[in-house]
Amino acid sequence: MRRLITAWLVYFSIIGSSQAAAWVKLNEQNTEKLMLDKQSILQKDKLKRAWVKIEYKAPQNNPETIDKTYNLSKLLWFFDCPAQKVATTQVFQYLDNELVYTAAIEAKSAEFIDPVPESHVDIAMRYVCKADQSVTAAKAIKAEPETVKLNTPNPNTEKSGTEKTAPAAVAEKKAEAVAKNPASNAAKLDKAKGDNHSLHWSYQAKTGPDNWGKLATEFATCASGRNQSPINIDGTTHASLKPLKSIQKFPAKDIVNNGHAIQVNFKEGNMLVLDSAAYQMEQVHFHTPSENTIHGKIFPLEAHFVHVDAKGNLTVIAVLYAEGKANLGLTKILGQISKTPTEPVPLKNRLTARELIPDNLGYYRYSGSLTTPPCTEGVRWLVMKNTMTASREQIKAFSEAFESDNNRPIQALNGRIIVE
Ligand SMILES: [Zn+2]
Repeated sequence: MRRLITAWLVYFSIIGSSQAAAWVKLNEQNTEKLMLDKQSILQKDKLKRAWVKIEYKAPQNNPETIDKTYNLSKLLWFFDCPAQKVATTQVFQYLDNELVYTAAIEAKSAEFIDPVPESHVDIAMRYVCKADQSVTAAKAIKAEPETVKLNTPNPNTEKSGTEKTAPAAVAEKKAEAVAKNPASNAAKLDKAKGDNHSLHWSYQAKTGPDNWGKLATEFATCASGRNQSPINIDGTTHASLKPLKSIQKFPAKDIVNNGHAIQVNFKEGNMLVLDSAAYQMEQVHFHTPSENTIHGKIFPLEAHFVHVDAKGNLTVIAVLYAEGKANLGLTKILGQISKTPTEPVPLKNRLTARELIPDNLGYYRYSGSLTTPPCTEGVRWLVMKNTMTASREQIKAFSEAFESDNNRPIQALNGRIIVE
């Protein structure tokens, strides 16, 4: 739950919510201006935190993105007021309002430092820590249980717009979690929501794909949906698709057999920017054989990198693997593939998504759905044009983890356009 909460905080910062935030100017110099969102101040355990932004007159360089400059930073700072220490946990850099860089770390893993006197963090710390604002503290106490319940913490407590998005986000999140990770996330979400949700579905016979839509009212879209996944990629339309902006340097956290697929969950910070929205990569899972096909060709293995944005919108990056040379990234998880459903087990090797995704990020794009119940639609699908290879042994390790194949059959296009 904590992981999700932190993730959501990221998104609300991106959504910007300039109308909801209450920015106060803390410092202004010739070159830059420091602003702090009063509405975002919250007490979290023994720490306080707040969103700040720094506007720069001249473009700044970030050593991590040599080719990009930025003139606005949005940062989430955590303050240990008694110890007078500060940590940066979220960074968003923009150039003329376009997001060019982002990074994130959980507060508990962040390094707290003594701020340089009169630096931005020092000024912000004095503001946030001064005279324990009882109003803010009371608000924080009131806000936290609510956010846990909804699973959509909202630092901008006055932002009424989120009233609308929260239930949708929960539904989407829950749908995804139920589909991808019944053992952990879904159980937690359900507990939080106070209902029970462990409907059985499979890839075979009575509980197989042909019958998913009949198994439960929640799964009705599997039968009635008109924009379902997977599909056969063919007859594509050429469009000037923007190059993918993706940061995939944060390593995987743990691995789980969720009963339907082998899934690797990622630490926070792996972001994808699509349609000006920021998506956080949550997990990758594998299907044998592939679900999507290209010009009718079925591949022996397909990976789905599931990303989610602030509103619960999903984007899935699909990578297809042909049989060939072993993939070094897959090698790192092979020894930890369980043939029975498990709780997540920490991954022994350091693995980043980069190792499982082709260098060339050319892609096909279409609008589809989850390929597992409840088959929720509105999922942005990005199928990598370039395939990778996996060895016969690697493919076997994934397919042997389950009694049957775990690929949903191809679904009708129903007039949808696939662009490339
Ligand atoms: Zn999938």
